[in-house]
Amino acid sequence: MTNRPDGRKADELRKMHAKVGVIKRADGSALFQIGDTIAIAAVYGPRELHPRFLQNPEKAVLRCHYDMASFSVTERKKPGPSRRSVEISLVTQKALGSVVDLKLFPNTVIDVFIQIIQANAGTRCAGITAAAMALAHAGVSMKEMVAAISVGKIGDKVVLDLTKEEEDFESGASDIPVAITSYDKSVTLLQLDGEVTRKELSEALKLALKGCNEIFKIQEKVLKEVYTQQPFLEKSGVSQKQPLAASGGKK
Ligand code: UDP
Repeated sequence: MTNRPDGRKADELRKMHAKVGVIKRADGSALFQIGDTIAIAAVYGPRELHPRFLQNPEKAVLRCHYDMASFSVTERKKPGPSRRSVEISLVTQKALGSVVDLKLFPNTVIDVFIQIIQANAGTRCAGITAAAMALAHAGVSMKEMVAAISVGKIGDKVVLDLTKEEEDFESGASDIPVAITSYDKSVTLLQLDGEVTRKELSEALKLALKGCNEIFKIQEKVLKEVYTQQPFLEKSGVSQKQPLAASGGKK
């Protein structure tokens, strides 16, 4: 396999678009689009956790809820939770949990709702990227940001940001979703669907880091813009936040 179906280079991301403040009622919210995949994340909290026996007196509970809308794919997806959505919610919580200062908010819950409104592969990664922005937009204290991207192998070629068409490549493809933190560059999500050699995995991780570094720039731009216009300490109500946008990647 030499050429990608959409003409991208092996290390090229799809076109990206990001926006925060997309849901007025939420404490923080964000939209992240990469190619045809669109994720919206909404954060509520920290707020008191009920029932009380679920509270942790030492730290907040971070709850992530991932869902893909029925209309997000061409072949209608059955609505409601599935094994897949439970798994993705769990890995999303693991991918974000280590960067959020949960100890600052004992006995509370921070709810993160991720809705995929259009899917063309890489939805868990788009969801994690949007959720990290929504948490920052909510003013939740975080040690660093998190971005996620899928890398993989199509035939014998390692590529960045696979589309659904590439994932379904007839001679076989491997898909590796990766989440990386912005400062330490720690890997907080690493999954593998398929097979790769140690050398290919190392190559894939380098590509993932390159992709995440590009995503960090967009996350930072959008968040800086919103807080430059309306400094955090002057924030008098989430509803006053203005939606702001930034785009990047392939034109
Ligand atoms: N998909 C679908 N129907 C489903 C689940 C997934 O059409 O019920 C498609 C969708 O485009 C998704 C892709 O398959 O992005 C890959 O799904 P996967 O489970 O690998 O997770 P993702 O790559 O989205 O994180």
